Amino acid sequence: IQESGPSFSLPEFLQGQLKKRELNAHKGSVGKLALLAGRRGMVGAFVYAAKALYRSGAGMVFGLVDSEDQPVFTLAAPEVVLRDRKSGLAPLLDQVDALVLGPGLGLEDPALAEGLSAPIKKVVDAGGLTYLSGLDQLPDLRGAVLTPHEAEAQRLFHCQAPRQDLMTLAKDFARDKNCVFVLKGPGTYVTDGHRDYVNSTGNPSMAVAGMGDCLSGIIGYYLTALEDPFLAASMGVFVHGAAGDLANEKYGQSLMPLDVIEEIPQVLKKIL
Ligand code: AMP
Ligand code: MG
Repeated sequence: IQESGPSFSLPEFLQGQLKKRELNAHKGSVGKLALLAGRRGMVGAFVYAAKALYRSGAGMVFGLVDSEDQPVFTLAAPEVVLRDRKSGLAPLLDQVDALVLGPGLGLEDPALAEGLSAPIKKVVDAGGLTYLSGLDQLPDLRGAVLTPHEAEAQRLFHCQAPRQDLMTLAKDFARDKNCVFVLKGPGTYVTDGHRDYVNSTGNPSMAVAGMGDCLSGIIGYYLTALEDPFLAASMGVFVHGAAGDLANEKYGQSLMPLDVIEEIPQVLKKIL
């Protein structure tokens, strides 16, 4: 019998990195994260990041949203534990292992600066990246994974360089700032300034709103499962693209973000 569907194999440097859950695992021991994402009109960004986190294996996701908006966020993603964004991140910081910051977040959000400077592993995407682009002096980015698409990278570097040059700038930036840079697109490029990875999974059906929010969630989970942020980012990019390839078999260019999230378990079955 011929096996159908796209084939993918985990790059060698990522093999053996993921561990199955221990028998005595509990929701507090398998990845707790804070999610600072979404706003009115951008509820999807929050939902896709949150669902991608849980489908990847997170045990607990705390979502920071404005208290007036809680009912709609609860209905859209009831598995998320909601906290009032106005109370800030501080009360959550010693309860979580990592932070996902930026999908669908407005630039004027008061929690942004606090989240960016919080001493915790984090994914910085979308609104978080735009905010960084406007600063004269960047905060300490150690332990951060930045996930810009090309336009966001150009904004960050204040130049219109083509992809090849952006990759060089990304590598220098990552080395300078002790962070991981994920330049998204076909053949997503991951670098920590010393190591590089060009991803082989993913396809053009993934060119749709909300796809980057899924990636933020997946990488966020791997920041809790893997010690090394470069491996976490690379693993996240690989799994996201592989799930996208499985979803592409079913939906082609009608693909939507939740379709990709629903394929994450099939990818994990093959690589775990
Ligand atoms: P964003 O632009 O933030 O929504 O992110 C889009 C996500 O989908 C990134 O992870 C991209 O790498 C992926 N993606 C978009 N278009 C393509 C494409 N043509 N080929 C492969 N991956 C893509
Ligand atoms: Mg995006």
